[in-house]
Amino acid sequence: MEILNYINNQWTKPNVNEFFDVINPATGQVITKTPLGTKADVDSAAKAASGALPAWRRTPVNDRVQYLFKLRNLMRENHDEIAKLITEECGKTFEEAKAEMIRAFENIEVACGMPLMGKGEFVEDIASGIDELMIRQPVGVCATIAPFNFPGMIPFWYLPYAVAAGNTYIIKPSEKVPMTMQFIMKLIEQVGFPKGVINLVNGAKEVVDGILEHPAIRAITFVGSTNIAKYIYATAASHGKRVQAQGGAKNPVIILPDADMEMATKIVADSAFGCAGQRCLAVSFAVTVGDAKNHFTELICDAASSRVVGYGLDSGVQMGPLINAASKSRVESLIGLGVKEGASLPVDGRGTSIKGYENGAFVRPTILADVPRGSEIAKTEIFGPVLSLMHVNTVDEAIELVNSGQYGNQASLFTSSGSAARKFRYEAEAGNIGINIGVAAPMAFFPFSGWKDSFFGDMHGQSMDAVEFFTQKKVVIERWPKEWSRKF
Ligand code: NAD
Repeated sequence: MEILNYINNQWTKPNVNEFFDVINPATGQVITKTPLGTKADVDSAAKAASGALPAWRRTPVNDRVQYLFKLRNLMRENHDEIAKLITEECGKTFEEAKAEMIRAFENIEVACGMPLMGKGEFVEDIASGIDELMIRQPVGVCATIAPFNFPGMIPFWYLPYAVAAGNTYIIKPSEKVPMTMQFIMKLIEQVGFPKGVINLVNGAKEVVDGILEHPAIRAITFVGSTNIAKYIYATAASHGKRVQAQGGAKNPVIILPDADMEMATKIVADSAFGCAGQRCLAVSFAVTVGDAKNHFTELICDAASSRVVGYGLDSGVQMGPLINAASKSRVESLIGLGVKEGASLPVDGRGTSIKGYENGAFVRPTILADVPRGSEIAKTEIFGPVLSLMHVNTVDEAIELVNSGQYGNQASLFTSSGSAARKFRYEAEAGNIGINIGVAAPMAFFPFSGWKDSFFGDMHGQSMDAVEFFTQKKVVIERWPKEWSRKF
């Protein structure tokens, strides 16, 4: 598949000499090349989106969402095709890729409620004969900068809400996984959105910087690692833009002795090793309390060692590779660091080679046990299939450990005690909480609520937060004296 930009409803070849090799992480083969676009490409897209804005804004909201209904149906019809592309460029299993796209469909479905969600407010007689109203208007041209790990879902945390609210839009996918959005843009083309309403620009840092600086782009959403999220947040804000930036994570789970251990193990293993741990809601460290330690450790080590690893398009495979060889060596060296810092390694996934896929970026599920508190490995986002185990004696200590971390994307608890669950829900410092749940991914009708260094901004993605983010409120106070009216 050739990777092109889609600007003003035209497929254009960026005029560049630099390309990024896109590899199938299971085979190590180069499958396409991402053109590393320039600020000039961003400028063309921003001009197209600005040109489209007046007419799109004036299109009635109930007409705007008809395009989205059509897009959702086309994406559903092409569900398998999209999922296959995700597996090829991103590595996750076909089933995981299909599940990812269901989240994208759900966001389109919720955004189709914009005629209701985008309504304003009206109060009569705030003083005698004076009324006050609030209307929501689009912000203008909006852009999203996306990460590699959910190439089909993450753009849809934003795109449907932005365009349903009357904005025009630019998407920049991760240069590591450009094929999924390339294909989806072909569906967007089939839908027949007016020229310039949705634009695609491929590239890396230069394109991102072009978006951050462009005066016509009014709002930016970003998802990626924390350091880049901070950069995006600060730079976009310094250019006077509305911005939300979701960052990295290091998600804890607490296992209490009264938890259903079989269930907890299965769910924690799915969370830690699903998508090869490359999920911002993957459980990354488990804190056992009291008697939970031995039983949970034994079961989770079994679950880790028995997971079927391979190419995500082959049947029966439960876990695919990491995104690339650099990521494999980074994860393997972090496992080594954990051991150096004093952790034990009951299940070691380093040095994995899968028959038939010897050049793949595979790391098998790994368990680091007795990870010392305060160690680098206890703090660092690994973003791979590695679960660290820690142990404390009380729920209070466990919650204190959870809250001592830098990130706040998700925290989970496994227990059969309602009061422990309530205490945890009340005290845990994370924006997405799981009680007997391993991946607490909010449905599209709730906000995706990272906290601390997992999120920079105030309005989150999805649901009413997305409506708030992609609209600006205008308040009008009106007086119409009777004597001005014509007598009828
Ligand atoms: P990344 O930060 O490397 O890249 C994200 C985007 O930023 C890409 O489009 C990339 O082109 C761009 N980028 C990279 N370096 C840049 C630079 N120096 N200047 C400007 N732009 C730059 O992230 P990734 O590796 O693609 O994704 C994995 C990360 O994303 C993990 O940390 C994960 O936790 C996080 N993530 C967070 C969430 C969430 O909801 N909080 C969701 C998914 C992924």
